[in-house]
Formats: sequence, structure tokens, C-alpha cells
Amino acid sequence: MSLSTDLEKFTSPDNILEGAPLSEYTTFRAGGPCAALVSPENTEELRAVTAFLEERGVPYFVIGRGSDLLVSDSGFSGVVISLRKHFSGVSVSGTNLTAGAGALLSKAADEAASASLSGLEFASGIPGTVGGAVRMNAGAYGREIRDCIESADVLLPGGEIRTFSKDDLDLSYRHSVIEEVHGIVLQASFRLTPGDPALIRALMDDLNGRRREKQPLELASAGSTFKRPEGYFAGKLIEDAGLKGYRFGQAGISEKHAGFVVNYGGATASEIMKVIKYVQQEVFRKFNVVLTPEVRFLGEFPEGGDPENTDPEGPEISGDPGED
Ligand SMILES: Cc1cc2nc3c(=O)[nH]c(=O)nc-3n(C[C@H](O)[C@H](O)[C@H](O)COP(=O)(O)OP(=O)(O)OC[C@H]3O[C@@H](n4cnc5c(N)ncnc54)[C@H](O)[C@@H]3O)c2cc1C
Repeated sequence: MSLSTDLEKFTSPDNILEGAPLSEYTTFRAGGPCAALVSPENTEELRAVTAFLEERGVPYFVIGRGSDLLVSDSGFSGVVISLRKHFSGVSVSGTNLTAGAGALLSKAADEAASASLSGLEFASGIPGTVGGAVRMNAGAYGREIRDCIESADVLLPGGEIRTFSKDDLDLSYRHSVIEEVHGIVLQASFRLTPGDPALIRALMDDLNGRRREKQPLELASAGSTFKRPEGYFAGKLIEDAGLKGYRFGQAGISEKHAGFVVNYGGATASEIMKVIKYVQQEVFRKFNVVLTPEVRFLGEFPEGGDPENTDPEGPEISGDPGED
């Protein structure tokens, strides 16, 4: 029996896509297929699916908008779980906003503004989901998820659903406890403050205008590829290393914002990875600073293993972009 047939015991066939091309589910627009992409309809289905996969020893990965994710060209041999279709509701009660993990941050911010609630303006231009944002403690313009989240309901391996308070989530720069506990965020609650809707919308417009001005939004990317190293800005280091505009095949460093690795159209994940590794190597060689990717990785990357454990003095990556 195929894996998809097995999964049909837990959710409708309409919610299962065998061999889904993950390039279509990530903003980098690169990467191969997964065994199956499943979109459970509710918590019970999700729980049954994960219990089955755990019992069978089939690896699974939860994807949000795929806006901080690079999937390898060979794809992922396990099951990708998406909550975008059925866990995307947003509701407001008083000054509290609750959003399903699959809701886009832009939708949550918009609903907050419509309810005259301030606190999520910073998130309106971050192209991820609520689940991905909690996992990453996403932030922008001086604010982050940690500043407004109250709690998150999380499905843990083994089937327990636990409400994590803000403190339990252990949020810090692009980090939460979700990765350590291998949890799946189901929904999150945010404590907001009453505000003037016109001012809330004006702030959102201003921040989104600044994004359009500074970021290469016309190209496929995963936003800032690297975390901010303490005491530095990744983009400035990359620019100072002379890498702005550097290209390898169809991937490269944005001319507009050196912190963004971009896909100029049709780049492979391998090309994107080569750019990431080359930038790490060059920035370390020139400034002795280790750049750690903010982007998460899924699948096997033969061209350099795990870039998060890069030994910057390790094997050389050729800077020759060759013919493309
Ligand atoms: C143009 C652009 C601009 C960006 N600007 C910003 C910015 O200003 N600030 C910022 O912080 N980020 C930014 N990002 C990166 C990205 O949008 C955020 O990190 C976002 O929070 C990722 O959410 P996602 O749903 O896309 O997660 P994905 O990329 O799908 O996944 C990221 C990680 O979260 C995990 N995850 C996703 N959903 C869940 C869930 N329900 N439960 C548990 N784990 C989950 C995944 O397994 C993975 O490990 C930008 C990206 C782009 C393309």
C-alpha cells in the first residue's frame, strides 16, 4: 500500500498531494518533491497523521508559507504537513487576537487593524504564517513576536497538546523552544492594545513602503538569509566583502540588499546553497565573522552538508560562477 493510501485513512484524499513539488510551496521557488504533502482538516486528523508517521518511523516536517526555507533539489523523502488550508482562522475577543498556525501574518495584522488593535503592525509585511513566525520569533523594525504573544497551543510528539505560555516558548532572536521540543504550533494568542485604526494602518503602510524600497521583493528569496551576527549587520559585511551582485548560476546576492540571497529565475537549491556557503566562507576569510543562516534547510545538500555547522576554515567552495 502506498503512503498516500495509508494517509487516506486519516484525512480526505483531497488533503493529500503525493510527490508535491516543494518549489511551489517555498518563496525561494527551488527544491524537489516530498513523498506527500498533507493538509489535515482539524487537530484530530493532524494528531492521527503524526501518530501514524511516528509509529511507522516516517519523517515529517511542518511547513508554513515556506518563506524561511530552502528545500534540496532531491526533495524530502518524508511527509510535509501544511496547516495553511484548514488552520487559518483569526478571531478577536476584546484585546486578544487568536490565529490559527496556518494564517498568514498579513491577515492577522489586518484583522487586528480592523478591530482597532495595535501591536502586530510590524508583522504585516513578513510573508510567513503565524506558526512559522512563532517558531522563528519573527521580527522587524524593532518588534518581534515575543513582544505581543501570550501563548501558543502546540502538538508534541506522542500526541500531547500543551499550551505554552510566552515564557515557556523561550523566545529569543529567531529562536523558540518549538524546534527543541519538535512541536507543531496549532494556534497562537496575542495580547494587543487598543489603538486608532487610521494610525495602525498608516504605520503598516509606512513599514511596507520601507520594505518595498529596501528589499528585492520582485525576486524569489527567503528574506534575510543570515542571522545578524552580534555587533554587525550581515548585509553590510557581505557588501563590504565585495559580494553584492555576486552570482552563481541563477542564484546570487541581491544588488538591492546584500543580506538577501535571491533566485533570479530557475535557480536550483544547489546554486542557492553554493552562494550561501561562498558568502559564509568569504565573510569569515575577510572579517573573521561567522554568518549563521536564518533560513531553515530541508533535505540533503551534497554540496556542503549542514551550513549551520559550517567550519568556516573547511573545504574551499569555488567562487567561480562558471557558465550559466
Ligand atoms: C521577502 C521576505 C521578507 C522577510 N522579512 C522578514 C522579516 O522582516 N522578519 C522576519 O523575522 N522574517 C522575515 N522573513 C522570513 C520569514 O517570512 C519568517 O521567518 C516567517 O516567520 C517564516 O514563516 P513561514 O510560515 O514561511 O515558515 P516556513 O518557512 O514554512 O518554516 C520556517 C520554520 O518554521 C517551522 N514551522 C512552520 N510552521 C510551523 C508550525 N505550525 N509549527 C511548528 N513549526 C513550524 C518550519 O518547520 C521551519 O523550521 C522574510 C521572508 C521573505 C521571503
